[in-house]
Amino acid sequence: MSSMVLARKYRPHSFEAMVGQGHVVQALSNALTQQRLHHAYLFTGTRGVGKTTVSRILAKSLNCVGLDGTGGITARPCGQCQPCRDIDSGRFVDYVELDAASNRGVEEISQLLDQSVYKPVVGRFKVYMIDEVHMLTNHAFNAMLKTLEEPPDYLKFVLATTDPQKVPVTVLSRCLQFNLRPMAMQTVQDHLQQVMASEAISAESGALSLLARAARGSMRDALSLTDQAIAFGGGSLLEANVRQMLGAVDRQHIQKIIESVSAGDGVGLVAAVDTLRELGLSASGTLEELATALQRMAVIQVVPQAADSSDPDGALWQALARMLAPDETQLFYSLALQGRAELALAPDEYSGLLMLLLRLLAFKPAQTEQHAGDRAAPSPKAEGSEAANKPASEPAVQEAVQAVVQTARAAIEPPATQPVAVTPKAMSARAPQVSQGIPPWEVLPDQAYEAGNAEPDSAPAEAPALTEPPAPAVQLVVAAALPEDPLADRWAQLVAQMAARNSITALVRELAMQAQCVATMEEGDGSRWRLRVERESLRGDMHRERLAQALSQLLEHTATIELEGGSAVNTPAQRDQAARERRQRAAEDLIQRDPLVISALARYPGARIVAGSIRPV
Ligand SMILES: [Zn+2]
Repeated sequence: MSSMVLARKYRPHSFEAMVGQGHVVQALSNALTQQRLHHAYLFTGTRGVGKTTVSRILAKSLNCVGLDGTGGITARPCGQCQPCRDIDSGRFVDYVELDAASNRGVEEISQLLDQSVYKPVVGRFKVYMIDEVHMLTNHAFNAMLKTLEEPPDYLKFVLATTDPQKVPVTVLSRCLQFNLRPMAMQTVQDHLQQVMASEAISAESGALSLLARAARGSMRDALSLTDQAIAFGGGSLLEANVRQMLGAVDRQHIQKIIESVSAGDGVGLVAAVDTLRELGLSASGTLEELATALQRMAVIQVVPQAADSSDPDGALWQALARMLAPDETQLFYSLALQGRAELALAPDEYSGLLMLLLRLLAFKPAQTEQHAGDRAAPSPKAEGSEAANKPASEPAVQEAVQAVVQTARAAIEPPATQPVAVTPKAMSARAPQVSQGIPPWEVLPDQAYEAGNAEPDSAPAEAPALTEPPAPAVQLVVAAALPEDPLADRWAQLVAQMAARNSITALVRELAMQAQCVATMEEGDGSRWRLRVERESLRGDMHRERLAQALSQLLEHTATIELEGGSAVNTPAQRDQAARERRQRAAEDLIQRDPLVISALARYPGARIVAGSIRPV
């Protein structure tokens, strides 16, 4: 059974029959009815949403002569006259479809354009449909442009593309553009229901719902998947069959996974993955379903009344939503999304899935650690003979992973910022050193470094770290990527303090974060600061004054700020970035060197650390 049977049979032959593109149909119908014809149309949209279909209906509208042969341009082509039937069957000489994805050269488009000087053979109009037009070469575009600029009256262009960004603006500007939208899942499902009714095929609504979702907005894909499912199910559509065919995952597996994660039950997670493997259910499908479930849970957590009462699984989502904290749900959602990319890199997709699920356990936000005691203890039985058969469920591996991850977490959390009280006194202790014997604005960064190097106590500050959780005892000694610079240290501390007090927000905070402090000096009872900021848009008076106010409050004296342009280095923002990179490298290094990891890798030859999977939270 050809998988294109239904898609071909149910391809719409009229605007009325087109599903889910009402806005385009309406605009085209009106234009045709009022005889306001454009000479070039561009249809954009993802694959399978109806670009070719709408082009064929348009060609019929332009060429239909009606049953009695006297009809004119119409928004409702009859479908019975010779031109209509020939266009539907692909035999109409004046309607040419060219797939630019396969005929992208100048030569093909030139041949087509050479033909355009001849009047239509049988029709009222010649219609050239160029699909995937963005694939044309620049030469081909230029050749087409000449005709587009001064087209003969009888010639219409229909261009279609999945990627309008790649179509030159000179071409875009000569086209009337319509965007065909991906179809809503419900629209697709309703249409499938109708098709199944007219085919007299019994179909469970759960089956149609699965097919509609798998089609991702493409009616063509939906119909072709339905064809396959009918063949697979021996003539009917049962949800269980469709699920099996699509490699979809039963919700009960998702439920089991979320419950295990919520309970911190590593053994349960390993068992869940073993089950998926035995059933041959797709790992990436599992992650997709997991992400969908987490997304629904997140909505219910924030807007409890948003629960869809028509959703048969509504009660399940609500129950699951209560098992995780909203921030956990968010974190797991993003991990599940990221994890899909990693599956392809994993030795096999199930071990990739297992690693990801173990990561969910490991990265449960810290406040849930108190429930660690509730976690199912690894069953000692599994250490025996079973271990040989099921290496993945061996508790030692889990313990190893957990231990390593805990160590890594300890390492990647930033050290606590020791708030440095910056008082007027501290200011004055520093300022004379910097400005001694030097005109205030002659203080260059290099000299400032020298002045600062004499002070061993200038600890690097983690500017935005004030909002992060208290640090563990682990201290990492890592070479700083940025040069020593006491002025920068000081500025970063001040910025962190202002940010912690919420006295700088939004763009003022941005200004502070992007600034390099190049000089500071006492001025009367107060101080004056010179900041270098690269982005001109940040150097406005309003932001400068608000930053000065916040700084004055912090220092308890009048601080004034001057801004200059130029390349800013060692800004709080750059320091923050460098610190993040250092923590990342340290975490990776720690994982690589960890004896538990080394022995685990040695023991399980297929295992490896997925690049990029170690991530400070
Ligand atoms: Zn007709």
